[in-house]
This record gives sequence, structure tokens and C-alpha cells, in this order.
Amino acid sequence: MRQSSDQQQSAEQSTFATTATGEFICTDPECKTKPVFKRKCDLTKHQNNHRRPRKCPIEGCTYGGAEQKDLNRHLWSYHPVYSREKNIPKEETMCDFPGCDYKGRKDNVRRHKDTVGHHREQP
Ligand SMILES: [Zn+2]
Ligand SMILES: [Zn+2]
Ligand SMILES: [Zn+2]
Repeated sequence: MRQSSDQQQSAEQSTFATTATGEFICTDPECKTKPVFKRKCDLTKHQNNHRRPRKCPIEGCTYGGAEQKDLNRHLWSYHPVYSREKNIPKEETMCDFPGCDYKGRKDNVRRHKDTVGHHREQP
């Protein structure tokens, strides 16, 4: 049996195509994986990632962050093995003691605070 190859292409510059079985393929030139979606809302969700400047490089992960630090934070919390391998910079935390500009990894800051007594007293 033959499916009709009637293609419904809208005048808008659409970055997707529909298959004969009614599924949606992302055809965005930026898209390397060209995934197929059964529902259009999933396609839309996926395509939103193309509009975000920072995309998660892990295959199958749809995360996209507005800034590099958002992506780095995501990488460390969701893909720690990858992050360690690729030396993804960890987000730096600042000592919140007034006048102190010490910054570093979270645990280093905690140790710094213990060492120099930079714990903020809560009133
Ligand atoms: Zn895509
Ligand atoms: Zn990810
Ligand atoms: Zn400090």
C-alpha cells in the first residue's frame, strides 16, 4: 500500500518536515541528530533548544542553557563523569563574608570559612 506523499509545507520558514506516517522530523540546519517526534509539542520543545545558545553535548539530553555557566552547572549535576573528563569548569562560589573576596569551589569556600572564621553571624 502506498501513502500519499502530499506534503503540507507552510509558508513560514518551517524547520521541520512531516513523514508519511504523520511524524515530525526536525530539519533545522543546526540540528545534528534530526530526531523524529510523534507529537508536535515534543518537536517544539526540542526546537527550543536550537534557540538556546548553550546546548548540552550529551546525546539524548535536551538541556539548553542561556549561558555557559548554566550549562556547566547542568553538566556537573547530571553528567559528572563527562564533566571530569572534559575538565568542565566548576561554578565558583564566593565567600559571603562582608569584604572578603575569596572564591573557589563550594567545598573550598566552606573550608576557607572554617579556617579564617568567615562565618556570617545571623542576627
Ligand atoms: Zn533539532
Ligand atoms: Zn545534559
Ligand atoms: Zn572569606
